[in-house]
Amino acid sequence: MKELGTMFVQACNAFSENTVVLHDGEGGALVFDPGMSTPSEWAEFDASLRARGWSPKAVLMTHAHLDHVLGCAGMVERYGLHPQLLAEDEPTYEMAPRAAELYGVPMEPLPELHPNRLKDGQILTFGTLSLRVHWTPGHAPGHVVFVDDQNQRVVGGDVLFKGSVGRTDLPGGDPATLTKSIERVLFELPDGFEVWPGHGPSTTIGQEKQGNPFVNAAGTGMMQVGG
Ligand SMILES: [Zn+2]
Repeated sequence: MKELGTMFVQACNAFSENTVVLHDGEGGALVFDPGMSTPSEWAEFDASLRARGWSPKAVLMTHAHLDHVLGCAGMVERYGLHPQLLAEDEPTYEMAPRAAELYGVPMEPLPELHPNRLKDGQILTFGTLSLRVHWTPGHAPGHVVFVDDQNQRVVGGDVLFKGSVGRTDLPGGDPATLTKSIERVLFELPDGFEVWPGHGPSTTIGQEKQGNPFVNAAGTGMMQVGG
């Protein structure tokens, strides 16, 4: 687990999925992509919140792939919070139990979604925190990223990784669309913005613009597919 003052990240489940938690500045916490899947992962998560005195206010989904939704039922049971996602990713959410079967991963039945869907271009406000929601398809059809301009950080899900990008071979994935999403949304941000991805360590926009082997640094949109 990473200690970062106004946020923490807990790697969860067999897929090492990063569950990201942001403090809202007023004692609340936003939980992104809850992946907690075992009693010990839940114990760590609950203890991390308790130690900081943060209480969860919302469960926000970058997208609904299996590894990102494994803790959704638990967030409803423990905290009464239903997951919010973009309408375009509802089919992904509905497919997750089938994916769990295919991967042989035990999963509690998924809860009802929150009645409100996320919207492309929406600004979410919790406490003193404002987040811009941007639709970034290509890895999953309804994938979004959450941009925190004030703290120069992005909850990025599986779009852009340190030195890599999200896979595009799952249903609704498409490499050209993913490249466009990265250029249109993420590479428009200042170089210093830190991206917290769904897997692996954080990175910055500047680092990935320069060195990401999957996205052409000249910004022509050429992705080295299959490389
Ligand atoms: Zn994914």
